[in-house]
Amino acid sequence: MTVSKKKRKRSDTTTKWERCKAYFGYRCAYCGKAGKLTKDHVIPRHYGGPDMVFNIIPACQSCNSSKGKRNAGQWYRQQPFYSMGREVRIKMYLFNTCMNL
Ligand SMILES: [Zn+2]
Repeated sequence: MTVSKKKRKRSDTTTKWERCKAYFGYRCAYCGKAGKLTKDHVIPRHYGGPDMVFNIIPACQSCNSSKGKRNAGQWYRQQPFYSMGREVRIKMYLFNTCMNL
């Protein structure tokens, strides 16, 4: 077994992203699956959504690519794994992040 030691640069953005993932329990904010998480823009960049912490939540690869350029709220409610609890959690997160900027 080999352990590779990666140099870790802790920029402010990285810390915030870590906190963001921790808030969602290191799971996809939409479907709740654990695994590799990507940064999902709640308001797609396509529609001018900023590349900032208050617009980014963790999403699994499948949710991220399924959502594509659609608005998170509209897309999410059409999904079979939609959960109102998780939607509230997402909204609370975005709200709190905005407030703490
Ligand atoms: Zn997902």
